[in-house]
Amino acid sequence: VKAHEKILRYDRSLDCVHCGLCLPACPTYQHTGKETASPRGRIYLMRAFAEGRLSETPENIQEIDQCLVCRACETVCPSGVQFGEMMEITRDLVETTQARGRLPRFFKRWFFRRILPYPRRLRLLASLLSLYRGTGLQAMARTFGLVHLLGKKQVLRDSFLPPIPALTQRSEPSIVNAAEGEQQAEVGFLVGCVAHELLPAANRAAIYVLQRNGCQVHCPASRPCCGALPMHFGDVEAARSLAQKTIESFAEDLDAIVVSSAGCAAAMKEYGRLFAEDPQWQDRAERFAARIRDFSEFLVELPLRPPQGTLTLRVAYDAPCHLLHAQRIADPPLEILRSVAGVRLVPLQGSQDCCGAAGLYTVTSPESSAALLETKMKHILEARPDAVVTLNPGCQLQLQAGAREWAPGVKVMHLAELLEQAYRPQVKIYTPE
Ligand code: SF4
Ligand code: SF4
Repeated sequence: VKAHEKILRYDRSLDCVHCGLCLPACPTYQHTGKETASPRGRIYLMRAFAEGRLSETPENIQEIDQCLVCRACETVCPSGVQFGEMMEITRDLVETTQARGRLPRFFKRWFFRRILPYPRRLRLLASLLSLYRGTGLQAMARTFGLVHLLGKKQVLRDSFLPPIPALTQRSEPSIVNAAEGEQQAEVGFLVGCVAHELLPAANRAAIYVLQRNGCQVHCPASRPCCGALPMHFGDVEAARSLAQKTIESFAEDLDAIVVSSAGCAAAMKEYGRLFAEDPQWQDRAERFAARIRDFSEFLVELPLRPPQGTLTLRVAYDAPCHLLHAQRIADPPLEILRSVAGVRLVPLQGSQDCCGAAGLYTVTSPESSAALLETKMKHILEARPDAVVTLNPGCQLQLQAGAREWAPGVKVMHLAELLEQAYRPQVKIYTPE
């Protein structure tokens, strides 16, 4: 498979006609102005690796790791370059070299293979982080400059650390959640791995909204991880193993599998490609992928039962890259927001640009991530919304970190949370400050 992937990577790079149309769309190029930090530059680099003109040294792979895999370049590319796929393959191949060093490789493999597949271990890890944050350890480490001793990158990583909800909040949703009113569909729902430990309220809201829209919602007890993180960060083998477990977790007769995390839905819609070389799994993976629906996409298809409540709110919508560029879903979230009485959509400059979350980018490239977040927050402050709505947990956490720092009055929420509030306005789920 590796040899095949190498050739594939080379073929894909030949699709690029070097027109440069992708450059203005690329956040890392916008930020640095460097050709090497652009999609075209990165394609040259990947091609040079494939042709053996360059070897994968720590210096040479820097721009491979600095890429957000936001896929904004794919949206504008006239040649149909499959940039995301090329980058996944390249990162997986780089992983087989020692270019990233033994320790980061060890930690990544440990997290992807020993933690992500096991919800209980994830829960324990989240609880340990909550101890660090909640018992004053974090505040102490900051006050006495201990975090600063570890360097600027560590200070930034520490500032991105989100509040961890109480253990009771993170409990598993019911396995079967009954439809309200006449049943329209029977769907699976991906509860997810990290997302459920950090943003369980968004999951609960999504399940509730689906029920209100006549869906019986099944949440597998195994709580599978879809494999998007290892897929994007150089461990395709771990991604395949997680994808297999995800496929096995959902009954084949469900009408759809609804996913409220744009990053996860994008990865799951591409399972066919992940198993392209595996005759045993390919058909099943493709059939499964065809049933994946993003939360907003699914509600618009149903169609949505408009909520009765009124929310007097100025709302800015920030489009997740993996919704807009990877799944090419632009209108459904806006259509849904427009259906909520009282919501006033305010234009947000750069709403299609990456916020810097990009999976584990806050951990792997905290400085670039912070720079992109700062630009995003500047635009949010200019738009003066009461709330910013997104559909991806990574973006939600990143924007919440930005709001803590720059815009404490702005509430950052998942579209499902806003809808939940509109369906039951008598229950105050949040109060815009
Ligand atoms: S837009 Fe497409 S073809 Fe043009 S340089 Fe970028 S990747 Fe290459
Ligand atoms: S995926 Fe995003 S960051 Fe990477 S080259 Fe394309 S536009 Fe730039």
